[in-house]
Amino acid sequence: MTTIPDDLVYLDYNATTPLDPRVLDAMLPAMRDHFGNAASRHHALGCDAATRVEAARARIAEVLGADPREIVFTSGATEANNLAIHGVAASPVHTRDRDHVVTVATEHRAVLDPCEVLAPRGVRVTVLPVDSEGRLDLDRVADAITDRTLLVSVMHANNETGLLHPIETLGALCRERGALFHTDATQSFAKEPIDVESMSVDLLSASAHKICGPKGVGFLFVRRKRPRVRCEPLIYGGGHERGVRSGTLNVPGILGLAEAAALAHAARDTERTRVAALRDRLHRGLASALGERLAINGALEPRLANTLNASFRGVDGEALMKRVPDLAVSSASACTSALIQPSHVLGAMGCDDDRIRGSIRFSAGRFTTEAEIDRAVERITSAIESLEGEAHGQNDESCAT
Ligand code: PMP
Repeated sequence: MTTIPDDLVYLDYNATTPLDPRVLDAMLPAMRDHFGNAASRHHALGCDAATRVEAARARIAEVLGADPREIVFTSGATEANNLAIHGVAASPVHTRDRDHVVTVATEHRAVLDPCEVLAPRGVRVTVLPVDSEGRLDLDRVADAITDRTLLVSVMHANNETGLLHPIETLGALCRERGALFHTDATQSFAKEPIDVESMSVDLLSASAHKICGPKGVGFLFVRRKRPRVRCEPLIYGGGHERGVRSGTLNVPGILGLAEAAALAHAARDTERTRVAALRDRLHRGLASALGERLAINGALEPRLANTLNASFRGVDGEALMKRVPDLAVSSASACTSALIQPSHVLGAMGCDDDRIRGSIRFSAGRFTTEAEIDRAVERITSAIESLEGEAHGQNDESCAT
């Protein structure tokens, strides 16, 4: 089993996931015995590491319907997003007559921040709004793309609300207009169906630690044909990864990523059904205990099977979390930033400050059980009642004096 403590209910899988013991088993031999450098092809240990890395690359490509040569290993999705955006924006091939990038206000900071620094480099950026449920207006996307548009970057699944954007439609639109299409699939890779061919995806980012794999490893899919995408490196050095990303490969991490991807992919449909039932049990439990005080943020469908973003009216999310230290959840999306900031995602959806402050993201996953969901409902509702009781007590006192 995992190392999640028995007395903790872990519902923060969108921030990170526990390592699946089968993934650890796939990584240990590469740490202990097969320690060769995958670039040292002149001896058996190096060749062995290279062979294992190439097998891992093929397993990952298979999950996406990609060619193994289209997978570039990175340190995670933050680096993959930076490589996609800055790599393409620095490419003389793609920028010959194009200098405009389109993205969305609800993207992860790992997309918004690299886009922000493009402007001083002469690349114009359009950040599209969303509606109150987090959805994009496709006509607005179509209007935003011009014959100067180099790249459109729209995430597949939102990390805070779980909302799924229509990647296939967006991919087709970009293809038709000659713009490259990047999707940050960190929250959906191996959990939702993705086929880079039929979805016309040109670049795709993912990370191992969201699928019960290790931290510090991920990849960028970079299309090789129809169209051939050129990505200038962010990191220069020994020319690893076909010159796109230098640095000695993280062999144990890559093997763990491949194992995690294959496991998640194989169980994808049964897990989606199981986890969606848990998420809906949580929603029903909170709704029946709290009634009108509960509001759900974001569209209910299409949505990741595991995510419920709820606001508790009149309650401060941070104060609530402090009351339930045995429940691991997120308020204000702790995983997007090392800083605690009000959620820019809920802000872009037009949620008022009170609703943002009272929001908690619950994200279930592979090791979540029904009993844990019931415990979460009980812990949250009793914490809210005690917070409200205290607030009333204070109000009564202030009336009396
Ligand atoms: N994009 C999204 C949508 C994410 O949820 C995350 C992780 N919070 C990232 C990018 C960054 O991924 P990593 O931790 O692998 O850098």
